[in-house]
Amino acid sequence: MPPPVVSDRRRSAALAMDFALTPEQEATRARARALAQREFAPHAAEYDKSHEFPWRNFHLLAEEGFLCMTLPERYGGKGADYLSYALCVEEFSRACPVTGVIFEVHNSLHAEAVYNHGTEEQRMRFLPRLARGEVLGAYSLTEPNAGSDASALQTQAVRVEGGWRLSGRKIFTTNGGQADEYLLYAVTSPEKRSHGITCFIVPKEAPGLSFGPPLEKLGIRASATTDVILQDVFVPDDRVLGVVDEGYKIALRTLHGGRIGIAAQGVGILQATLDNVARYALERETFGRRLADRQLVQAHLAEMATDLEAARLLLYQAAWKHGQGQRVTKEISMAKLFASKVAVAGTMRAAELMGGEGYQAGTLQERLVRDSKITEIYEGTSEIQRMVIARALLAEYQMQEV
Ligand SMILES: Cc1cc2nc3c(=O)[nH]c(=O)nc-3n(C[C@H](O)[C@H](O)[C@H](O)COP(=O)(O)OP(=O)(O)OC[C@H]3O[C@@H](n4cnc5c(N)ncnc54)[C@H](O)[C@@H]3O)c2cc1C
Repeated sequence: MPPPVVSDRRRSAALAMDFALTPEQEATRARARALAQREFAPHAAEYDKSHEFPWRNFHLLAEEGFLCMTLPERYGGKGADYLSYALCVEEFSRACPVTGVIFEVHNSLHAEAVYNHGTEEQRMRFLPRLARGEVLGAYSLTEPNAGSDASALQTQAVRVEGGWRLSGRKIFTTNGGQADEYLLYAVTSPEKRSHGITCFIVPKEAPGLSFGPPLEKLGIRASATTDVILQDVFVPDDRVLGVVDEGYKIALRTLHGGRIGIAAQGVGILQATLDNVARYALERETFGRRLADRQLVQAHLAEMATDLEAARLLLYQAAWKHGQGQRVTKEISMAKLFASKVAVAGTMRAAELMGGEGYQAGTLQERLVRDSKITEIYEGTSEIQRMVIARALLAEYQMQEV
């Protein structure tokens, strides 16, 4: 007789690794999925076609209490953990990638930065309104000559009585022109390079602030990406976020949560793709049999499902560790790099599996192909993620040699 196997359940108290979601995380995901499938998925194609900013979806996110969900209740949040937040970005992106990124920028890139670096007065002034959805947030770092190398930004902030005057031009701001508050990064001490950048919270109506028209894009067309133009914009001292000259640290730290959000967007897009192509394979017949009955087609589906699961595990691990306060820059970049890569490859593979149907404008698969590509570009391109991973990896090896 073989020795009795001790089930994992019985020894779970002694195990460090547990892949189960908590009941609260399950419930949050179920609520996010229900909202997204009921309200966002049916309208995603219309928004893609009209390019209209989906304010309706943003207001629904506010009504259902998803905005700023990771913040403490004192500031209007729900005190949710970071994995729950990632699950929500995944579900919203699965239904509508545009809504996924609007939600992600508002939460990770804007509200969390205000919470992490703001004074108590700033937190109380800005966060409850962001959480109630009365105000939409944006994050403006990129400039014409400062994308991957964001520290090369040239927007200038000059000291004046009571505050600063900002001049310059930002490009590619998500929620641009629609958002009410912008986290804007500008040079305050040119001689100190990346140690001379400051973050400002600038309201949409500030005199001298204007916006370019929404850019025509390959995908996520309704997400409003614009230039932000600053002509001698006065920003009072009480709208400086964090310490003067230490804004670049805020920009980079904020991208940790942001990259988790984009990895979740990639996972959501790939899940939507698998849902779509698996259903198609079960229905479509060629040579008298369903595509789903062909081993060659099954092999593609199996690989897509495996990529999806691997991306999801990297994402959940990074989100969980980040939420625990662990420094996981490398793991976050791995999650974004891998999730975006398999999302792009998976949407293309699905389009191929669907034949001419997958190439038709206005179909779900065609939109998912277009929407997936941006996950490899924003919040650090895939090359930048590889650089971050390699740098951390080599530093670990060097530590071992000391
Ligand atoms: C739709 C959209 C929304 C966006 N939203 C925002 C936003 O809300 N806020 C914001 O601040 N920015 C936003 N961005 C900007 C985005 O983050 C940048 O486009 C991105 O970081 C890349 O910068 P870049 O376009 O200047 O490309 P570049 O930095 O010019 O890079 C061009 C190419 O060179 C590669 N490359 C660069 N440096 C290296 C290197 N050292 N080694 C190897 N390869 C390298 C890059 O990977 C890329 O392939 C958005 C962009 C888009 C398209």
